[in-house]
Formats: sequence, structure tokens, C-alpha cells
Amino acid sequence: MPDLSEDFRLPVGCRNCGSHHMRVSEVHNPDDRVFCASCNRYVCLYTEAMEILNQGPGSESEALLEKAAHRHP
Ligand SMILES: [Zn+2]
Repeated sequence: MPDLSEDFRLPVGCRNCGSHHMRVSEVHNPDDRVFCASCNRYVCLYTEAMEILNQGPGSESEALLEKAAHRHP
């Protein structure tokens, strides 16, 4: 059975455990959910993760992640 998920690194850490190691379905739909690879907590949508990746580390990215987490509890 093929593994349908892939890992990537986010500039901003998981709000729960601080890990930057994220996991997403390799289908890469914009509304795919991104989960923390360490604690399995929902982090944000794939499209939001791409936005954060483009943004790089910093307060803008932290704000994006914060917003994403509140929108999809
Ligand atoms: Zn985590």
C-alpha cells in the first residue's frame, strides 16, 4: 500500500509542540489539511502552508498560522 503523505518543513513551528516538521497528503489539493508530524495536530490548510512557505519565517507567517488555526479549530 503506497504512502499517500509527504513531509515538509514549515518556517513556523507547530503551535502545540513547536515542531517544524509537517505532514500533508501528496495529492496537494488547496484544501488538504496539514498536520504536525510530531503530535498529529491540525496545523493549517495546504494553501495556507504554501503561503507561509513563500513568506518565510517571521511574524507575518506566525500571524498566518494563528489565523489558520482559529479558522479551522
Ligand atoms: Zn506538533
